[in-house]
Amino acid sequence: MLFATYIIVGIVPVLFSSTVIFKATENYYIEERKKELLNQANILSGHITISNYLYDENKKLEFDEDIQNTSSRGGFRTIVTDAMGTVVNDSNKTEIGKTYLLPEIIEALDEKDVANVQENGSIYAVASIVNEAGDKVGTVLIADMPSDILEKVDNIKKTVYILMVTMTLFIAIIVFAFAHMIVDPLNKMVAVIQKIADGHLEQRLPVNQFNYEEMAKVSEAVNDMAQKLEQVESSRQTFVSNVSHELKTPLSSIKVLSESLLMNADTPKEMYEEFMRDINSEVDRMTEIINDLLTLVRLDQKEIPVNFKAENLNKVVGDTVKRLQPLADDKNITLIFNPIKEVSADIDATKFTLAISNLIENGIKYTDDGGEVKVNLDCDHQNAFITVSDTGIGMAEKELTKIFQRFYRIDKTRDRQTGGTGLGLSITHSTVLMHDGSIKVTSRENEGTTFVVRIPLIHNSTNK
Ligand code: ADP
Repeated sequence: MLFATYIIVGIVPVLFSSTVIFKATENYYIEERKKELLNQANILSGHITISNYLYDENKKLEFDEDIQNTSSRGGFRTIVTDAMGTVVNDSNKTEIGKTYLLPEIIEALDEKDVANVQENGSIYAVASIVNEAGDKVGTVLIADMPSDILEKVDNIKKTVYILMVTMTLFIAIIVFAFAHMIVDPLNKMVAVIQKIADGHLEQRLPVNQFNYEEMAKVSEAVNDMAQKLEQVESSRQTFVSNVSHELKTPLSSIKVLSESLLMNADTPKEMYEEFMRDINSEVDRMTEIINDLLTLVRLDQKEIPVNFKAENLNKVVGDTVKRLQPLADDKNITLIFNPIKEVSADIDATKFTLAISNLIENGIKYTDDGGEVKVNLDCDHQNAFITVSDTGIGMAEKELTKIFQRFYRIDKTRDRQTGGTGLGLSITHSTVLMHDGSIKVTSRENEGTTFVVRIPLIHNSTNK
């Protein structure tokens, strides 16, 4: 359709303008021919007067000869009339003696010499014959069929039309090829995008196959989008399966424990108590997971109101370290709090404590007995920096971007004994973002890990 439009829009004006140009050329040539014939008629009329052909009977032969010669030289017909319109000489000899009162002859006799194109296309040029006294005594009519002109213009027309057809074909081929080059890849693109939309998120557009940078860019953008969708989809699936899995483990323990209690009506009191304690701790674990999940979901929905208040970070962080000291002691880990400056910042103390204790707990969890976990507190003019570093098992470089994802645990077997939920760092991350801060991690396997949390000292809570 587009293709047809291009052809029509391109060709119609060319056709129209070329027709106009042909007509103008033809007119120009005809006008020139008219002038030329009038000129000839005038010369002949002068010659007739000088030679006195009209009145000297003896010169009849000479007169005939002159008319014949002039006509055959010019390739036209010549007719001479007297003032009454009676033909006195005719190069074709057929009209002599007849009365010829053509409008052109009348006009030449009454007013002035004239040349007109006739209906059949021939030109009549009429000049009056004026005697020595200045009276109009007759006319010379030259009739000419300007077929040579028409032929000439026809030839030009033919050449131009041939040229136009060739050009149209040429342009059509180019447009067609172009249309194919653009439309084909677009169609392929649409097919792939449609598949992605149908849920085949693994589909990708070929990027290098296109001749146009723009198309390659579009493909890249679509691929990026598909990849993000795939990530979102897969993290959604992992999230759901992780939640189910994490909740299933304590649930099945509870089921086994409670069933064995129910089966054995005369269970000894001690065993009963022990089972109940186990059930209780499994319930605690489920509660922990569910609480973490709820915290995260609420952080996401920005539902929890955040109470920013200027707090003494030395106290908040120091208290957190103190609270976790027994955990470190259990593993013989040296837990050091190292405040470099006195720092006060706008925080929501409850949430911020949770974020920092997640980091310290991880430090303790992922450091072997006898290691060290150090918490630094520092600030500059704008930001507070809390650094938690450990001498633990560390992480591979490629893990560092993933650990903030929900339920992401580097190695399920490695991390099993530590009993984490894989939610701790996500909570920390969301909380830090909520404080308009950032969190960075560096780590080396078997050497240790360092988390640096930065938060602004002054929180612009008015726009929160
Ligand atoms: P978890 O409850 O498993 O600790 P987190 O979200 O707190 O979940 O951490 C995600 C994963 O990142 C952990 O499973 C662990 O493998 C890794 N990780 C976190 N902190 C450290 C650390 N200080 N040293 C080594 N690995 C860590």
